[in-house]
Amino acid sequence: MIAALFVLGSALAAPPEVIELGRGYTHLYALVGEGVVIVDTGYPGDDVAVLKGLAEAGIAEDKVTAIVITHAHSDHTGGAAALAARLQVPVLMGAGDVPEAAQGVNAEASPTSSRAAFMSRFFPETFDTFTATPVNAPMSLAEYGVDAQVSPVGGHTEGSLIVTAGTTLFVGDLIRGGVMRRKAPRLHYYQLDIAAAHAAVGAALGPEVTVVLPAHGGPLTPEAVRRFLAD
Ligand SMILES: [Zn+2]
Repeated sequence: MIAALFVLGSALAAPPEVIELGRGYTHLYALVGEGVVIVDTGYPGDDVAVLKGLAEAGIAEDKVTAIVITHAHSDHTGGAAALAARLQVPVLMGAGDVPEAAQGVNAEASPTSSRAAFMSRFFPETFDTFTATPVNAPMSLAEYGVDAQVSPVGGHTEGSLIVTAGTTLFVGDLIRGGVMRRKAPRLHYYQLDIAAAHAAVGAALGPEVTVVLPAHGGPLTPEAVRRFLAD
């Protein structure tokens, strides 16, 4: 009996396994513990890639307990409506981006270079609408069977959020990895508030973090991120 209780107690205390679903422009992850939480859903149509990734990892669809979206841009929200309908799970988002999810439009962010301004014309402006559950303050994902936390921080968009799972820090688009040098931290192409975005990464980068996962490029080492933020 004592042994059984110990196993139950330790199952949720252990950080989830991090699995990458697919190999698209936007990284799509699953946090696998007692439950499974999907982090980001890619472009419109990428719900197919998420489901394929789950199947390839041997994860039954009914193990999925929630979807977390780092922010309301169409390369992150694209598959959310279809996945929420199919899997019948809540979609958690920073409260500041929930209105955009309901309207199916990208949250405000400004290009950080002339190249980014040019690129924005190739970036879908809309996506299928969905009702997101707002995250107003840092919260645990324990109720979804995953020992991880989500924290709304803003910066990239008003409602951008960060996910921490054990020693792994998911930063969404607060920073990105390089295109050629994927492990080199870079200023993201779009930001609502560059200083706030970078400050949020710095604040979340505790001594326990061993890997920083941006939604594009990476993975990044904490040391490389600290050097980038200090520049
Ligand atoms: Zn974005």
